[in-house]
Amino acid sequence: MKITEVKIHRIEWERGAYHWRDGIMPQGAKGSSGLLRIQTDDGVEGLSPYRGGASIEEIKYKLIGTDPLDRERIWQDFWLNLRTSRLGEAIGSVDVALWDLYGKVCNQPVYRLLGGVRNKIPAYASTTTLDSIDEYLREAEGYLARGYRAIKLHAWGRLEQDAELCRALRKAVGGKVTLMYDASSMFNRYEDALWFGRRLEEQNFFWYEEPMDHYNMTALARLAKELDIPLATAEATHGGPFDALTHILAGAADIIHTGPLDAYKGGFTGIMKTAHICEGFGIMCAMHGGSIASLHAACAIHNCRYFERLVPETLLSPPGIKSAETEIDDQGFASPGGKPGLGLEIDWDWMEGHTVGIEG
Ligand SMILES: [Mg+2]
Repeated sequence: MKITEVKIHRIEWERGAYHWRDGIMPQGAKGSSGLLRIQTDDGVEGLSPYRGGASIEEIKYKLIGTDPLDRERIWQDFWLNLRTSRLGEAIGSVDVALWDLYGKVCNQPVYRLLGGVRNKIPAYASTTTLDSIDEYLREAEGYLARGYRAIKLHAWGRLEQDAELCRALRKAVGGKVTLMYDASSMFNRYEDALWFGRRLEEQNFFWYEEPMDHYNMTALARLAKELDIPLATAEATHGGPFDALTHILAGAADIIHTGPLDAYKGGFTGIMKTAHICEGFGIMCAMHGGSIASLHAACAIHNCRYFERLVPETLLSPPGIKSAETEIDDQGFASPGGKPGLGLEIDWDWMEGHTVGIEG
């Protein structure tokens, strides 16, 4: 089998506006994304969501004429070029599309080909940043009513106010609901990060995510040593499994965050390497992002405990590309289902009406 065509459909659609912590530009009501298509002389096609900025000419230069089943060889070839190009932004989607294609060839869902460990996994409701503590409490009530048993806060990044929110949320949901907090690297002064970690410990939070920037590994290691709450780090690094190992050896991670569609993490091939490194150190490997790829990965990795489900569930999902990651059952579980590959269902009429450009 040989790769004959590679295309990226750029799409836009209307959806709700939202925002993250202080200092991050709010997101408007127009969603934009891409769909990567890798086509072959056999007629089988691999698909993946695509958000990267790598040049289509360079992606094609690497892929056209190669055998799409040689995923590791292609991965190594891309990885060799991260220094001199933007292929690191594409490697995740390219690898995910190749696994989708392989799943269609084998008539198996990707999570089973990766080594399926479970066919469903608890999801946590991962918030955007809301406007008031009352709004968070109202939302949390809705998550629990829908079946979720775990919630992760993306709050403002204001020390006192965020601490007050964590106290109020714990009081509202009781002791049995799992709570996590994501600082998105907001607390870059060690004393602030330490103070806030203590507040999370008082409210029995399950993990403390990205308190400080990933490049400050010395401070992260001090923090991990000082605090009892596990630090979840490395989500934003650009070295995939290699940076994960560096974080672990530096003592700067109790949990490693990675994601198959994240830039520079290396798709399924890369994050499975990361997961196995973590397993060797007895460390949890958490999946970032609520994509269908993250859900397949979470069901293939033994040392992954949760699937991150951004709420509202369909906020970032193009209506014309359907897959299983937006469906949470009444017990709070997500399942990738049994369709071959990723299980994407494309409404090509919708795509045609929302495509703003085709590259390739
Ligand atoms: Mg995060």
